[in-house]
Amino acid sequence: MAESRSNSQGLPPTVGVHMKCCNVYVYAKPNAQKDAYVGWCPKCARQVRLRIVSEGGSNSRFFEAN
Ligand SMILES: [Zn+2]
Repeated sequence: MAESRSNSQGLPPTVGVHMKCCNVYVYAKPNAQKDAYVGWCPKCARQVRLRIVSEGGSNSRFFEAN
């Protein structure tokens, strides 16, 4: 419980992302601005960026990257 949960948005530290390009799952982490999750495909090094919506967004922790 050492992890601080001071962020009122309750953002998960990582989210699972399905990379359609190579059909693999990767974990994306919030960027420094906490406005998007970023991750990279381990196979083709494609970058994925997922905007974090603070209001009215879905609660899904899993995303698909096209
Ligand atoms: Zn890929």
